[in-house]
Amino acid sequence: MKIQSKITLLFLILSTGILLLLNAFILYFDYQFNYDDFFKRLEARVNLTAETRLFPGERSRAYEEVRKKYLEKLDHETEYILKADASGSFKRDGFPSEFIDEIISTGKSRYKQKNKFLSGKVVALLPDKYIVIVSARNPYGMRELKELQKILLVGFIGSLVIAFFVGKAFSFYTFTPIRKLTDRVKMITSDNLHLRLDEPTGKDEISELSLTFNNMLNRLETAFDTQNNFVSNASHELRTPLTVVNSEVEIALTKTDLTAEQRSVLNTISSETDKLIQILNNLLLLAQSGFDGKKQRWQIIRIDELIWMAIESLKKIQPDSNIEVDFSQLPENEELLQTSGNSNLLRLAISNIISNACKYSQNQLVKVKLTVQNKQISITVTDVGIGIPHEDLEHIFEPFYRASNTLAYAGHGVGLPLTLNIIRLHKGTIDIRSKEDSGTEIQVLLPIVNSN
Ligand code: ADP
Repeated sequence: MKIQSKITLLFLILSTGILLLLNAFILYFDYQFNYDDFFKRLEARVNLTAETRLFPGERSRAYEEVRKKYLEKLDHETEYILKADASGSFKRDGFPSEFIDEIISTGKSRYKQKNKFLSGKVVALLPDKYIVIVSARNPYGMRELKELQKILLVGFIGSLVIAFFVGKAFSFYTFTPIRKLTDRVKMITSDNLHLRLDEPTGKDEISELSLTFNNMLNRLETAFDTQNNFVSNASHELRTPLTVVNSEVEIALTKTDLTAEQRSVLNTISSETDKLIQILNNLLLLAQSGFDGKKQRWQIIRIDELIWMAIESLKKIQPDSNIEVDFSQLPENEELLQTSGNSNLLRLAISNIISNACKYSQNQLVKVKLTVQNKQISITVTDVGIGIPHEDLEHIFEPFYRASNTLAYAGHGVGLPLTLNIIRLHKGTIDIRSKEDSGTEIQVLLPIVNSN
């Protein structure tokens, strides 16, 4: 889940929690207020009842008058008067014991039985003792509470909907700088390591992140340059003396007065220096191809022609190779076979793949198929050779890595890393499927580039 969605969700959960708490708070206090208010009204009636029923006289008649005139009759309002017997105790008369007990012990009590409210108090009229009780129902209060519940529920749902949209907008707004940063970072690859992120002027976390990222890019670019320069300088420096050694050996070999042993030693030196020069050439290309595509000459290339050229030059080095080209599914529009790139590098990459296929299948049939699929040019090279062991598969693009089953085959492990660099430089991809002892299929996908 994206952090943006997580924040929206968190916002919603928090709002739900706060709203629930607030609603519970409002409902609780409204209930309390409602009950308290009703009990107070009952208590006023208890006092009046005591006054009018237990103390008859002029004053009580006046009270009765006021009560009739101004005091509204409550729903199911009923008065009770319990008289203590000779021993001073009261009959319960169907009233809850705890209610009567509390009246006796504290002098008065409030009690609620479902929707029936009871209020009572002790009145002493020496030598007698009475308990005056008034009971009534509170339908208006209950209706008011139900109404409040409905309002709160509607308000709760409405607030959640608002909280959801506000949360969404809030998280979207919060992550706008991060999205911008991600878009910019996506543009930075090893081909354009010189690109930098915009550094906002503020001192917030995003500015700090951009600054840190730019510093890291500075260090990365320096490291890339150093590595690149080191490999190409070292290859250059080593190649010159080796070429001199090689030429000297060639000259020495033309001499006629050499013994067989001397000739054999010189031949070995010559072939080993040849191999070294080849490795250095590959290393130089690897260094050049990997980092800065701008150093290469860029042009529009026809891939079918390029494949022919690659096979032609390969045949010169590996004349026993057995290659079948399948161009049967080419599109009618030849422009779909065009890509933009450096012809020499791309030819080297393709011939590396085909050359490996021939080498590791001991010149059995190698199929090269060219098609156009999903708006990309696809080159598939299939062989029926030794294949690549599963555990080696993920490493074969690392420089100097060779699979464990290649001991009997000459090689240096630079061809595929070089090929990968070249294909990446051309914005393509390379995919490899292989089974040990069955064969290997390597697919290169390159973008189609129109010439106009
Ligand atoms: P090498 O000079 O060893 O051929 P590469 O870089 O060209 O070096 O290839 C790296 C490794 O990938 C090889 O050593 C080999 O183990 C494996 N490999 C590449 N292509 C094939 C293939 N067609 N069949 C089997 N193994 C292959």
